[in-house]
Amino acid sequence: MATVIEQTGRQTLLQKILHFSIIPKGDKQQAVRMRRFLMAFACYVLCSILAYISYLANIMEWHGMIGILLICCFNNIILYIIFRTGLNLRMSDPSLTAIQMCAAVLVIMYGMYFANESRAVLLLVYVIVLMFGIFRLDIRSFLFVSVFTLVTYGIDIILLYHFRSKDINFKMEFLQMVVFALVLVAISVIGGYISNLRKKLGKSLSVIREMSIRDELTGASNRRHIMEQLENERQRVSRGGERFSIAMLDIDHFKTVNDTLGHLAGDEVLRGTSNVIRNSLRSVDLYGRFGGEEFLIIMTQTDIEGAMICAERVRKAVEQKRFPSLGNDFKVTVSLGLTDYRKNEKIDTTIARADLALYRAKDGGRNRVKYDSIMYPESELTILS
Ligand code: GH3
Ligand code: MG
Ligand code: MG
Repeated sequence: MATVIEQTGRQTLLQKILHFSIIPKGDKQQAVRMRRFLMAFACYVLCSILAYISYLANIMEWHGMIGILLICCFNNIILYIIFRTGLNLRMSDPSLTAIQMCAAVLVIMYGMYFANESRAVLLLVYVIVLMFGIFRLDIRSFLFVSVFTLVTYGIDIILLYHFRSKDINFKMEFLQMVVFALVLVAISVIGGYISNLRKKLGKSLSVIREMSIRDELTGASNRRHIMEQLENERQRVSRGGERFSIAMLDIDHFKTVNDTLGHLAGDEVLRGTSNVIRNSLRSVDLYGRFGGEEFLIIMTQTDIEGAMICAERVRKAVEQKRFPSLGNDFKVTVSLGLTDYRKNEKIDTTIARADLALYRAKDGGRNRVKYDSIMYPESELTILS
């Protein structure tokens, strides 16, 4: 028994190891953050190699090189744990851009102290760090990182002045620091501007995407989108998923509404009917405006009998809906044609069957639900009279 438990324990550990991936799966945003962290990690590795080469070339002292390697390891292990455990999600900026940048600045600060005559060259490494902020930080955060960078640089110079004054040309260092400050201000302003632009672009893209899938009048999916969803559903079933049914819904005598009450009233009826459909469906069901006053409903994981219940619920709800702005006696009714998807058929065939059933509902007197009777003789279904 004990061996079995041990084996199971070992298996799960093995499974855990086998299933472990450096980049977390399932959360796209965390995966993007982790990828960005790995890019920064690659820069750390390059800088560590550079530090080692500088040491071999007698440019950097050994304790400078060892210190850089240790701080690089420490930074990356801590950051990896924070990202992998999801601790970053508790912060106001889960990408931790400013924190990562400051951590990198500290590494450079340390390296600078031991860099001797190559100190000026190391200023360029600051630019690499600042590049990471371009797509994320606003001007304020950018200025914060810039001031932090300048302060650490200033501390370096003060320390050098006190402890190794023979190693530095103070005037030269001061001039470098002033020029560096100017560069930092310029990068902050330009970086903040770019990041602002990116945010606006992101918002515009989501508006454009929303516009491309929604019908403006009713807020339902537009025809293109509902057809895409229908195709997705067909593919899901073809891969062995459960069946689904569709309903074609058409508002009865809608032309009369337009002709007697005007087009604005017609629009009001379309909006109201769409809301009723939305509220009568389960959250997993889908619907969209197929054309003028026709809506297509997709009932996922639903056979024809389930679809009958659902369609009947929609029909009754529309019948009970009141439109106060159009008068107390004003009523709207809808007719629905139903069918289920049959494996390996084209989606057009399914829609044509639903259309045929809708025609029968209209022909039968409107305000009713009909299913296509090719496969299901009416006597087999008892739900509807
Ligand atoms: P039936 O009961 O047989 O469905 O009759 P109906 O009058 O509803 O059908 P018909 O197809 O003759 O009329 C549909 C009307 O829908 C014609 C068109 O003017 C109107 N329509 C289409 N799109 C819109 C729209 O966006 N707004 C408004 N107000 N009317 C629209
Ligand atoms: Mg119609
Ligand atoms: Mg109609």
